[in-house]
Amino acid sequence: MRDTDLTRRLFIRRTATLGAVTVGSTYFLAACGGGAETGGTEGGGTAALDCSDTSALTPQEVETRTSLQYVEKSVTEGKNCLNCQQFQAPATAGECGKCLVVPGSINPDGNCTAWVEKVS
Ligand code: SF4
Repeated sequence: MRDTDLTRRLFIRRTATLGAVTVGSTYFLAACGGGAETGGTEGGGTAALDCSDTSALTPQEVETRTSLQYVEKSVTEGKNCLNCQQFQAPATAGECGKCLVVPGSINPDGNCTAWVEKVS
C-alpha cells in the first residue's frame, strides 16, 4: 500500500466523520427549536411571532404606536399586552392580537405606556 492511498483513505474517513457530525448537529438544533436565539415565549406569544409590520397603517396610526412607545417585547416585568385590559386576543392562538388604543398588530408579549392591568 502506498502512502498516498493511506492519506487518501484518512482524508475520506475524516471528511465522512465531519459530515456526520454536521448533519447530526443540524438535526439536534432543529429538534431543540433552532439554533438562533429567537426570544422568549413569556406571556403567551410565540418565539417567531412578529407583529411589527406597520405597512398597512396610516402615518398617524404609526405615530400613535410610536408615541405610546409600543414594543414587541415588554421590558417591564409583569406588564405585557396579554395581561393588559386593552388587549384583544387573536382568534387563533399564536397570532398577533389587536389593541383598543394602539393601532395595528399587537404582540401578546409587547407593551406600551398605555398599559392597564386586566380585570377579569
Ligand atoms: S394598551 Fe399597550 S400594553 Fe395594552 S394591549 Fe395595547 S399595546 Fe399592549
